[in-house]
Amino acid sequence: MALIVHKYGGTSVGSPERIQNVAEKVIQFRERGDDVVVVVSAMSGETNRLIALASQLQDKPDPREMDVLISTGEQVTIALLCMALKQRGQDARSYTGTQVHIRTDSAHGKARILEIDEAKMRADLQLGRVVVVAGFQGADEEGNITTLGRGGSDTTAVALAAALKADECQIYTDVDGVYTTDPRVVPEARKLDRITFEEMLELASLGSKVLQIRSVEFAGKYNVPLRVLSSFEEYSDSAGTLITYEEDGMEDALISGIAFNRDEAKLTIAGVPDQPGVAARILGPVGDANIEVDMIVQNISPDGSTTDFTFTVHRNDYTKTLELLSGIAYELGAREVNGDEKIVKISLVGVGMRSHAGIASTMFKTLASEGINIRMISTSEIKVSVVVDEKYLELAVRALHAAFGLEQKP
Ligand code: ADP
Ligand code: ASP
Ligand code: MG
Repeated sequence: MALIVHKYGGTSVGSPERIQNVAEKVIQFRERGDDVVVVVSAMSGETNRLIALASQLQDKPDPREMDVLISTGEQVTIALLCMALKQRGQDARSYTGTQVHIRTDSAHGKARILEIDEAKMRADLQLGRVVVVAGFQGADEEGNITTLGRGGSDTTAVALAAALKADECQIYTDVDGVYTTDPRVVPEARKLDRITFEEMLELASLGSKVLQIRSVEFAGKYNVPLRVLSSFEEYSDSAGTLITYEEDGMEDALISGIAFNRDEAKLTIAGVPDQPGVAARILGPVGDANIEVDMIVQNISPDGSTTDFTFTVHRNDYTKTLELLSGIAYELGAREVNGDEKIVKISLVGVGMRSHAGIASTMFKTLASEGINIRMISTSEIKVSVVVDEKYLELAVRALHAAFGLEQKP
């Protein structure tokens, strides 16, 4: 007998039929003798619908009220799933985040979980009930409802699994595991049986939305066995992709995957006098405005006295950053400010890169042979990222996937 946390995403609970399918799956585990805690997302499209509603009523929706609004989607699903379970004779109880004391900080829209009181859930499990918890939400110390950022139900599931010391956290979604890249973009993408926490963290932070990055951080920190699998396929003990610590004998791949991120925009401030402190004078006000900067490149102009400074931010922050930069450019006596929203960041990720040279040059050659211009580059021990024009996304990812032979087992 084991204690398992299941999480079902939006597509998996997108209709009454699909919720029935989830109920059947949960009951299969109860029949094996397992205790089950289920975390669900809102029905697919619901969170987007709520966000669109808000924007019709306030230009910049109030963060507190926004969380009250967008947390409602999950409350619908928990109740419906409990009804489906009861209809099948399985006792179940639904709870909102507040009701199981998922306490977070007060950062509306991107709150972090600080504490969970698992006593109530344990009492229900003791009575043979299935516990169904709303994902994506919690409450701060004052009882204000908070949400955990898009895709946050993954993090709720892992946090509950950590608090309950569950035997496994199973993330059920609309693909049957973690692939070498998004299978919607590259149909030849290959499912991975295992991937290390480190690689999964990197993929998630570079744009692979199959798991929210915080859920992977949590699982690594609290050593929660984590598996991604399909809600539409029969369960087997070896199904899906296991996220684990690095072990001897694991697939010795150079590259484990390709991630991409369409959510960034690029800005350049050109012809800035090349003096100490320039970077701080540009990025200081950007940071003060709570805008996160990702890639940064600084170039010396041909005459050596000025510099061009380019960086990327989230697309949602593009207009605000452009406005800020115009002010900074005037103060610094820079020549001009320009920006581009239609860019995408593509990254190769693999722990095998540590011991192999030449990955970056193969990447650049592959893109060159497709006539794709690289706008920015950044590297770390286990990844290489490039920024290219958005229109090349599919072409670039497919070409790189083929160039590194990712469709074949290493
Ligand atoms: P859910 O609603 O279940 O949380 P998501 O849409 O958040 O599902 O995540 C699943 C989606 O992630 C898949 O449909 C797939 O298109 C996308 N995805 C992106 N990168 C990958 C990858 N490397 N492996 C698998 N799926 C990926
Ligand atoms: N419903 C939320 C979202 O769409 C949380 C989640 O699905 O994980 O982002
Ligand atoms: Mg998701």
